[in-house]
Amino acid sequence: MTYAHYIAGEWVTDDAVSININPSNIDDIVGEFSRGDAARVDEAVAAANAAQPDWAAASPQLRHDVLEKASNLITSRKDELGRLLSREEGKTLAEGIGETMRAAQVFKFFAGEAIRNVGDAVASIRPGIDVTVEREAVGTIGLITPWNFPIAIPAWKLAPALAYGNAVVMKPAELTPGCAWELAKILHEAGCPTGVFNLVMGPGSTVGARIVEHPGIDAISFTGSVATGNTIAVQCASTGKRVQMEMGGKNPLVVVDDADLDVAVATAINGAFFSTGQRCTASSRLIVTAGIHDAFLEKLTSAAANLIVGDALDAATQIGPVVDQKQLDQNLRYLKLASNEGCDVRGGELANGPGFFMKPAIFAGATNQMTVSREEIFGPMASVIKVADYDEALAVANDTEFGLSAGICTTSLRYASDFRKKAQAGMVMVNLPTAGVDYHVPFGGRKGSSYGPREQGSYAREFYTIVKTSYIAP
Ligand code: NDP
Repeated sequence: MTYAHYIAGEWVTDDAVSININPSNIDDIVGEFSRGDAARVDEAVAAANAAQPDWAAASPQLRHDVLEKASNLITSRKDELGRLLSREEGKTLAEGIGETMRAAQVFKFFAGEAIRNVGDAVASIRPGIDVTVEREAVGTIGLITPWNFPIAIPAWKLAPALAYGNAVVMKPAELTPGCAWELAKILHEAGCPTGVFNLVMGPGSTVGARIVEHPGIDAISFTGSVATGNTIAVQCASTGKRVQMEMGGKNPLVVVDDADLDVAVATAINGAFFSTGQRCTASSRLIVTAGIHDAFLEKLTSAAANLIVGDALDAATQIGPVVDQKQLDQNLRYLKLASNEGCDVRGGELANGPGFFMKPAIFAGATNQMTVSREEIFGPMASVIKVADYDEALAVANDTEFGLSAGICTTSLRYASDFRKKAQAGMVMVNLPTAGVDYHVPFGGRKGSSYGPREQGSYAREFYTIVKTSYIAP
């Protein structure tokens, strides 16, 4: 069977296919997925443009019901979808099922938001005139999603787009189209009207690029690498498309002398290595003050060495495989670079097996100026940077071109409060991993990490709606 695109309510296959491979076992083929081209995008945009006005004009109850049904269908299939996610992306089964449930929660939340899309009635400064401020759908939105959260990120872009009356053309990452395909099937079953949601699979260089340049697309929401994101942002600016970019991170976790050592180590292990470090919110810089540094490093090294790396579907596994050979090669290049730059590299061995298995690596003795502490690596690797005190830790934490998430482990209210105020990041965590967020509050960063309005929670309305101010004289 070849998995088909979903365009204008129909399943459409192409002769060209992309093979989806299980990174835990490269002999296991998850499926063959149709590989589209610019013409497929054009078909999808035409369908979306035709369907969008009626969808926006429909009762919010209809949009609520579709999204709620989609949420219920995801929940009813959470084990199967979580397994698919782990099979195609390599997250552990617990993480895969957890991410699937997150997608269900997001759809449920935005089912409610469809109905709560209230506006303002404002007194005019001119007598006898009524002023209203309302939010309308933007139009047709292009969604371009990465491989590292193959169901949650499509869900948190798709659900608000649909809730507020937009039509969608979505392109998932070539590496992980399976979960996005299942979402298309679920939306079909949930009664999403023809053309409102369209899925076109294929490479970013052709399918993605056509979505970005297509004049029938009104806005682009993208998550992925800095390089691709910046290119897309420039293209969108030149064609007047609204744009929302979630890109990289080099997230600091500060550990100060008064931290609870066990909490600090558990927080660092989770933030740096869970999901194989393949999270834009991963704690890739562990900035540790001198008094606790040696004890922290020793305990971290031993905890990291004890993590069980293996097949994502094995219940005992704590760290699944790297997503593919290309990412593994990139990780190995950074591992070598860390040694060359003078780090004491602990771990990072390749593990045996039919997949892309790599043990977590700690770059002890790192400085913040090293390339391994400045570029997003996107693997199970973290720099440990020793600093004199809290003030230096804060300065180092902020000395980065990124600003997505920043964390601190401390038992001092003074440090926690100061860090919360001064960390140059979109999200701040105290005694919690830099990764791991709620779905009903804004997600996003500052500096090079993000561009445009925030995602998630009611803040998503900012991007997926456009304001209209009306003046009415009787
Ligand atoms: P990309 O930014 O290349 O991919 C993200 C999405 O954009 C994919 O769907 C991709 O398509 C698509 N895309 C690629 N080129 C274009 C284009 N010219 N126009 C429109 N869409 C495009 O990231 P990669 O998957 O290649 O990963 C590379 C690195 O990016 C990782 O090693 C990591 O450092 C970082 N990354 C960061 C993420 C984050 O959340 N911060 C998420 C994923 C990656 P396709 O891949 O299907 O060809």
